[in-house]
Amino acid sequence: MTRTIALALSAALLAAAGSAQNVDPAASVPATAVPETVAGSVGAPPSVQTFDQPAPGARSPRNASYDIDVRLDHAARTLRGRETLRWRNISSRPAAELQFHLYWNAWRNRDSTWMRERRFVTGYTPPRDDAWGSIDVDAIRLHRADGTVTDLTDQIRFVAPDDGNAADRTVMTVPSPVSIAPNGTAEIEIEWRARIPRPFARTGYIDDYYFIAQWFPKIGVLEDGGWNTHQFHAVSEFYSDFGVYDVAITVPRDFVVGASGREIGRAENGDGTMTARYHAEDIHDFAWTASPRFIDVRRTFQHPALNRVEMRLLLQPEHAGQEDRHFDAAAATLRYFGEWFGPYPYDYLTIVDPAFQSGSGGMEYPTLITAGTRWIAPRAIAVPQSVTIHEAAHQWWYGVVATNEFEAAWMDEGLTMFGEPRITEEMDQANRLAIRFFGGFLPWVIDDIALRRETNGNRLPTYRLAAEADAPATATFRYWPASATPISYDKTALWMHTLERHLGWPVVQQILSTYFERWKFRHPQPAHLFAIANEVTGSDFSWFFDQVHGGSNTFDYAVQELVSERTGEDPYVTTVVVQRLGEGTFPVDVVTTFEDGRQVREHWDGRDRRVMYVYERPARALTAQVDPRRVLLLDVNYTNNTRTLAPRAGEASLKWSLKWMGWLQDLMLTYAFFV
Ligand SMILES: [Zn+2]
Repeated sequence: MTRTIALALSAALLAAAGSAQNVDPAASVPATAVPETVAGSVGAPPSVQTFDQPAPGARSPRNASYDIDVRLDHAARTLRGRETLRWRNISSRPAAELQFHLYWNAWRNRDSTWMRERRFVTGYTPPRDDAWGSIDVDAIRLHRADGTVTDLTDQIRFVAPDDGNAADRTVMTVPSPVSIAPNGTAEIEIEWRARIPRPFARTGYIDDYYFIAQWFPKIGVLEDGGWNTHQFHAVSEFYSDFGVYDVAITVPRDFVVGASGREIGRAENGDGTMTARYHAEDIHDFAWTASPRFIDVRRTFQHPALNRVEMRLLLQPEHAGQEDRHFDAAAATLRYFGEWFGPYPYDYLTIVDPAFQSGSGGMEYPTLITAGTRWIAPRAIAVPQSVTIHEAAHQWWYGVVATNEFEAAWMDEGLTMFGEPRITEEMDQANRLAIRFFGGFLPWVIDDIALRRETNGNRLPTYRLAAEADAPATATFRYWPASATPISYDKTALWMHTLERHLGWPVVQQILSTYFERWKFRHPQPAHLFAIANEVTGSDFSWFFDQVHGGSNTFDYAVQELVSERTGEDPYVTTVVVQRLGEGTFPVDVVTTFEDGRQVREHWDGRDRRVMYVYERPARALTAQVDPRRVLLLDVNYTNNTRTLAPRAGEASLKWSLKWMGWLQDLMLTYAFFV
């Protein structure tokens, strides 16, 4: 509850800061809203949580590192695990308790918060009786630096910080026997058992395929404002600190295992099982998969200026032959995101092709992604590529720049959505001439970003319906469930593309590469991204961010009137009235085209409700358009952006141009339908 208020407050203060000249808006954000304190002057990088380098070469604070031993019981569909967590308090407050996520308890009963919220999502079907999952901690012990060990097992409590739901067991807390001071450390040993669900939220088993995510007791994030350990919600994802993971996974001997990180050893145990060991550094989550049916393929990504990356693909046997689609898409993402925003900082990436109906496709974890493929994937359907690109792109916005997905899901989903079509565009460049000269579909043009997404078959054009549902500054887990996707994904992509059309790609690229460089291996808040946009552009865009992030106002500009008349042989008097129908404001161009082919372009600041332009010209007006370049992709109704005059009786000379205008208008109506 307090966090929601804090975020709303930061947006309000951002607005206040926007009215002063030469003020870095982030400087006005209170420390309670933005735990990582922000430096004061424009141009100075915001300071971050301090930490002592725990190891040479550490790129992240490494304050939540895990050694985990886990054993899969294939027959019983259970996991048994033991972990040692080395945790360091990187906040400025002492820790009197320790909070942990136990995500699988979201599927423990019908009244968990996840299940309650899920009922409001369209298409929800109740789970089968054998589908439930759960996690139980059998023991938790705290080891202190002086060698003291305290058993905390009988002090385990469940809390529900978001909604007080007593039936929710997704957040566990234990008191610390001594308060852990800032920069103090603790070693926590946990033993647990878990029942593996049939797939829920991209986790679980189907036949002999396992996808195991959010599976171990995982410590929350202690911030200056207290523990940030949200319950598992139906519409938001995760948030955690960085660390080093050493994970030993024991499965039946004939299973192929894939996981975050790199495999560093494999041994047969002589009891029908084998153990695969994985190691990963500077990541904040760890997922794994196991199945005897995977085809294991590897390729190397190489680039003159970027790290070598060993790409591993675990492919379903029925998809043999589709290796290129996945590798090409992953390599394109590593290349273009690497060139545009900064290099992928790991030297391994695993792509998992999920089993049919496993529900585990299309998800990102650090250094491991799940793709999506249909049974029959004709070349013209780009689904496997686009899913692979999307999830690989998340390695930048989520994996490395680790935002809080519970509270600001748009920061990973929206930025990922925004970048994804540009990669597709680059990949298509190579085929463009072939497409043009040898038929096939028309290549997309960069302007049609919104249209492209819808025709690509992945999502419905729901942004317009959800435009007023939630303000992105509201914590994501508090969104109305049905609005989470259109707000986090579509609205963010649309306002990012609007910004790109307004400022140009080189500027937006510089904003995002600066953001990546400054916030990699950290947890930025929205205000940090906005501050970088202001810094890079040298101007204050608070007016824009306040509207698209802080509010839920819609944008709609329209041509209200177009009249063009004359008396006798006098020049034509043309009157154009342009209207702002939405509450949102944005500068737009107004273009009037005359019969002699001439055009007049006005730059309207878009603030008043109405503006009138009057022209005296020898030619009659044909058409008036507001925002003809379609800069403002957030405009919820594009059909009203153009008005065309009816032809005058008996004027054959106009036929051709009117026909052309009619075609143009049809095209725009079609386009607007999709947007
Ligand atoms: Zn995503």
